[in-house]
Amino acid sequence: MGDVVSNESLANLLKEERRFAPPAELAAQANVTAAAYEQAASDRLGFWAEQARRLSWATEPTETLDWSNPPFAKWFADGKLNVAYNCVDRHVEAGLGDRVAIHFEGEPGDSRAITYAQLKDEVSRAAHALAELGVRKGDRVAVYMPMIPEAAVAMLACARIGAAHSVVFGGFSADAIAARVQDADAKVVITADGGYRRGKPSALKPAVDEALGRVEGVEHVLVVRRTGQDVAWTEGRDVWWHEIVERQSAEHTPEAFDAEHPLFILYTSGTTGKPKGILHTSGGYLTQAAYTHHAVFDLKPETDVYWCTADIGWVTGHSYIVYGPLANGATQVMYEGTPDTPHQGRFWEIVQKYGVTILYTAPTAIRTFMKWGDDIPAKFDLSSLRVLGSVGEPINPEAWVWYRENIGGGRCPIVDTWWQTETGAMMISPLPGVTATKPGSAQRPLPGISATVVDDEAREVPDGGGGYLVLTEPWPSMLRTIWGDDQRFVDTYWSRFEGVYFAGDGAKKDDDGDIWLLGRVDDVMLVSGHNISTTEVESALVSHPKVAEAAVVGAADETTGQAIVAFVILRGHAAAEAEGDTDALVAALRDHVGATLGPIAKPKRVLPVAELPKTRSGKIMRRLLRDVAENRELGDVTTLTDSSVMSLIQAKLPAAPSED
Ligand code: ATP
Ligand code: MG
Repeated sequence: MGDVVSNESLANLLKEERRFAPPAELAAQANVTAAAYEQAASDRLGFWAEQARRLSWATEPTETLDWSNPPFAKWFADGKLNVAYNCVDRHVEAGLGDRVAIHFEGEPGDSRAITYAQLKDEVSRAAHALAELGVRKGDRVAVYMPMIPEAAVAMLACARIGAAHSVVFGGFSADAIAARVQDADAKVVITADGGYRRGKPSALKPAVDEALGRVEGVEHVLVVRRTGQDVAWTEGRDVWWHEIVERQSAEHTPEAFDAEHPLFILYTSGTTGKPKGILHTSGGYLTQAAYTHHAVFDLKPETDVYWCTADIGWVTGHSYIVYGPLANGATQVMYEGTPDTPHQGRFWEIVQKYGVTILYTAPTAIRTFMKWGDDIPAKFDLSSLRVLGSVGEPINPEAWVWYRENIGGGRCPIVDTWWQTETGAMMISPLPGVTATKPGSAQRPLPGISATVVDDEAREVPDGGGGYLVLTEPWPSMLRTIWGDDQRFVDTYWSRFEGVYFAGDGAKKDDDGDIWLLGRVDDVMLVSGHNISTTEVESALVSHPKVAEAAVVGAADETTGQAIVAFVILRGHAAAEAEGDTDALVAALRDHVGATLGPIAKPKRVLPVAELPKTRSGKIMRRLLRDVAENRELGDVTTLTDSSVMSLIQAKLPAAPSED
């Protein structure tokens, strides 16, 4: 990896001139104004201490940051709080018990509204139930659930009693559960009989049963009944949620824990390889999750209806479904299923039904909606929307503009939020009432965050230059370590550049100093001595009206070092037209990239494909495409959604025409 970028800084090929000023009305009433940048720049720690006071502390912290033993940070270390109290009880105490916390929409169409008062009762009962099952402060609990309210309740119940949760995405196999249960040494697993996916019940408990056949130490499995499917039952170990939770008292006194008490372990998505168990703690994490949710979405809890489409199995679901929104007293939508069940307009139907005002989703979803066609969202009333967010991958400028026009009606600001499982909360993003946005750019570090782009020698690149994205100062929601492996924590994030956190991503600064994410540095291509980012070539391809999605990789090439190989998914109408004869289209796409970015970035090969290899969180796995393009055996495929995708792509490759 790294060495690739050493000869030359990352080429800066893409020019994007479009600008969108913040809507005047939003700017006039924005939660956060430009003053926050100045305030944080003049006193960063004072700024975060102030944000920490947005929470309710049992013991107010007097310390802000302890960085005496880097890279092991402590934030607000002498403060004590209960995270679940902050997310639930305090809103009820403030008289907001009747406010809806969660509008749950099941895939089959069932729905439930859960108020903050009801959530408090349910979390309290679940906390008692976990205690009855022997869970104590400091223990770990694995959570393997569908997207139902009990998933959030389970997480909050753990937080309430000081047990760390480790959520395992409900689409993962028994192997992934076993590995994570073992790594975290979990005492209890919370699961469900199943959940609804793609129009039918999809079992979850069998995978837990299989996993627990292989690992020791789990004393109980707590099972929510969702689908009513038959489940195998291990007497003495398995307990129905409704049997044990419902008979508990709804009164539960939350204990205050140290700010640095572990809150959760979460494994990264596994785009680049084996997932890492990231540890987050309580006070700093909640401070930044809550502050960024308030600032970046301009949340007005009295009137907004917020919807984050992520799964609770990913960090986005942790920080922006559970902790950030609930700490802020938000009303949110939680949806169980897939975007195309029972029809491709399901998301827009939900926006219309609940009057969603803030929508947070991922580029992979946006590109899928582009592929399905503009006419689908056009059938629904999306006029309630006022802020749109994106996270997970670089968003191609054309997908950004499509999102703005077709979903945001040309009026909603888009916040492209860069962050990672490791950062715990958003780090680089526009502010909707402040920033004049640029399609495809995450733009500026948020107030209180220090990020920049450096070259191989750790020198900050000038505006217009590219290199490595680094975080130069500790931040409240930063990971504290890799669970059980401090050395790996130091080696993975803190050893590439002295004293700074290296995120693994490439980035550039434009002439205004705004940051553009360019994809992972491992994926950067070296073509005839030029470092070219995957993102820029992909964005050029997606800017062609016939392309919905693209993935490019550098494959070894005798003459140029690496040659650019592009895999493209065509938009619905173009795919039908191209049926049979793709030569003309391929030539047009190569020329289009050449014309947009310059001849150096012209792909050697362009392959139309039906699907791309993605992680279960929807991110493109370029390393597998590189393996295919170089005729190698595929690397680790355990985090891949659908392995048949790779055989389809492999079958295409040898037949593809190769040109100059
Ligand atoms: P692993 O670390 O196991 O390979 P992962 O990096 O995909 O998995 P996550 O923590 O879920 O796991 O993803 C964080 C990464 O997602 C970032 O490092 C970046 O590459 C990408 N990313 C997230 N948001 C954005 C964004 N707004 N723009 C560009 N890239 C983004
Ligand atoms: Mg990562």
